[in-house]
Amino acid sequence: MGCSSEGVAAALRAAAETVAEHRGELVELDRAIGDGDHGENLSRGFTAIVSALETEVPATPSAVAKLAATTLISKVGGAAGPLYGTAFLRASTRLGDAAEVDVPLLVSALEAALEGVQARGKAVAGDATMVDALIPAVAAASAAAGSADASVASVLAAAASAADAGAESTVDLVPRKGRASYLGERAVGHLDPGARSTALLLHAFAEAAR
Ligand code: ADP
Ligand code: MG
Ligand code: MG
Repeated sequence: MGCSSEGVAAALRAAAETVAEHRGELVELDRAIGDGDHGENLSRGFTAIVSALETEVPATPSAVAKLAATTLISKVGGAAGPLYGTAFLRASTRLGDAAEVDVPLLVSALEAALEGVQARGKAVAGDATMVDALIPAVAAASAAAGSADASVASVLAAAASAADAGAESTVDLVPRKGRASYLGERAVGHLDPGARSTALLLHAFAEAAR
């Protein structure tokens, strides 16, 4: 079964709840190796998405993703706003005029999101950014989609758990992009806040799709 525009809206509402719940944690992670605003930034952005969805849920999954993108780009400053905004924008473009997101389209949209983040931020695997959560997440989504009983929920669950491991891997890395890169070796031993938030978002999407 696929995911309608209402389903995508529900996933974004779930993401907003998760971000609110983990706001303090994300602030603490960013305080250690950045400027301490990642939790605030995302919380502001996802609260604005939920408000926009209260006015109207757009008609297609693509339009809902585009609403999320434009809201994140306009409301969230710093690095994460444009990066997550680009992720949703590329996903929106990939979703096209489909009325439902099915498994192959979901994998394709996740691939587009990753391409967008990398095109915008130029981070590669091992730079200790959200890309270190997103690369394994997309690979796991693609692998899970090959299973005979794959569903949107099972693909997102596989992506989320791979993102957890990918985020965890940033602890041992020397950051090469974003504010944490100013600390160099001193940032080793810390979890990247954006990698953590990527994993949290994917878990929220997976739960919403169940
Ligand atoms: P800022 O650093 O501007 O305060 P945030 O705190 O909201 O922005 O987001 C920081 C997160 O953004 C980092 O933890 C990292 O995951 C991500 N990030 C920063 N720069 C890049 C980049 N060039 N490519 C990918 N992700 C990045
Ligand atoms: Mg910050
Ligand atoms: Mg900042």
